[in-house]
Amino acid sequence: MKIYALVYCLIVMMATIGCSKDNDLNLFTVSQDVEFGSQIDSAVLANPTDYPILNKSQYPAVYNYLETMLNDILQSDEILYRDEFNWKITIINSDVVNAFAAPGGYLFFYTGLIKYLDKGSQLAGIMGHEVAHTDRRHSTETMTKEYGFSVLLSILMGEESSQLEQILASLALQGTILAYSRSNENEADKFAVYYTADTRYYNPLGVGGFFEKLLAASEGNGIPEFLSTHPSDENRLENIQNTWNNLKASEPVLTSVDWQDLEAQHSAIKAILP
Ligand SMILES: [Zn+2]
Repeated sequence: MKIYALVYCLIVMMATIGCSKDNDLNLFTVSQDVEFGSQIDSAVLANPTDYPILNKSQYPAVYNYLETMLNDILQSDEILYRDEFNWKITIINSDVVNAFAAPGGYLFFYTGLIKYLDKGSQLAGIMGHEVAHTDRRHSTETMTKEYGFSVLLSILMGEESSQLEQILASLALQGTILAYSRSNENEADKFAVYYTADTRYYNPLGVGGFFEKLLAASEGNGIPEFLSTHPSDENRLENIQNTWNNLKASEPVLTSVDWQDLEAQHSAIKAILP
């Protein structure tokens, strides 16, 4: 009898709290995403050895460039948590070619990545990809898959909630640092195309161009950092191209009028970076 009650309770809990706006199973609340992200943000800021932050008051133009791009992307109709999340850009001053997203809208870009890219449209593609990881709640979704049952059990057993919160926060940090699954990667690539199609960064070669460049580099001298935390599917470029083609077939995609301006802006920002 007790077991039935437990199973019933699990099902009720999963049904009531267990879904994201995209209907994927997620046992965490949207405000927990923001809370975990905020904890990760604090941990990054408290560790200048591993994460030397590019000073915002010293490099306002660089932050402005990325923040404007983020705001444009967030205007896309495909964004689910525009108002609920605490969207924030942090730039890490290091030659690592990577970017990562914490839950709840916290995005981190390395100066090494910005320098590595040739065009603003490529950066917009990568930003769209990171926005998708956080907006589609990939970290807490993964935690749900891996730890969902034990978390539910702890709640049912009435475990100290502060203790539970601590465990969850450390899991969130791990989830952010660990590589995403291939299916999360495919979803992030797909939404990067959808978001940028709605912006003036529209460039079918933007999202794909970055991966093309990375994949070519990985054939030469090892796997670039970005591909190790955002694992590539062998069909990645083809999938991105197909997403563009399907999108173009279903709705007229806006054509950016100021590509050249954006590419010139990207070069100017690269020249400012330390
Ligand atoms: Zn990714």
